[in-house]
Amino acid sequence: MLNIVTFILGPVKTNAYLVADSESLDAAVIDPAWAGRLILDEAQKHNWRIAHLWYTHAHFDHIGGAGAIADGLNPLPLVALHPADHVLWRAEGGAPLFGFKIDPGPEPTIDLIQGQILRLGNVEFEVRFTPGHTLGHCIFYVPSANVCFCGDLIFQNSIGRTDLPGGDSNALLHSIETQVFTLPDATRLLSGHGPETTVAREKKFNPFVGGSSIY
Ligand SMILES: [Zn+2]
Ligand SMILES: [Zn+2]
Repeated sequence: MLNIVTFILGPVKTNAYLVADSESLDAAVIDPAWAGRLILDEAQKHNWRIAHLWYTHAHFDHIGGAGAIADGLNPLPLVALHPADHVLWRAEGGAPLFGFKIDPGPEPTIDLIQGQILRLGNVEFEVRFTPGHTLGHCIFYVPSANVCFCGDLIFQNSIGRTDLPGGDSNALLHSIETQVFTLPDATRLLSGHGPETTVAREKKFNPFVGGSSIY
């Protein structure tokens, strides 16, 4: 069974998700936003072994805790990122543009691709490629838990910004229509910022998608 612990961390209140399989105790961090020590401590409390860091995208506020997490683990965690975001990763996720400095942690060695399955014990995470916020943005869908980790693709009543390098508003809307709105309506959406929502709720209320009210 999938366990999820949510942290709200860092200078722009980014959601980091510690996810673990209750049987194997295998764990991963989806977007280790900031303050990696806190995430490590929580994992230790449950005897979960963090072996993976999975990035929806390489913006600094989603990877800023990776160095501290890696410092506390032996062996080092494997890092998964879409190759189209590697340039952004090497630029510290744009941190210098915002006056921050981060330790980006271990180099990504697992290339995410559309349809790939990531596993924690018997729990499967389906990778969906969703460019628009960045060139290599991906989301992670867990059918058995009825949940999707959405990064900065879609938020409750909002969508990811597209004014940063690699941003493309048409691509973003296309990603939402084809990769999020095709999930079952009851799917929980756990985004990179703000409260959780559902596919049904965003189809109905999100003012940026699904209708003519794109502004
Ligand atoms: Zn972002
Ligand atoms: Zn973000």
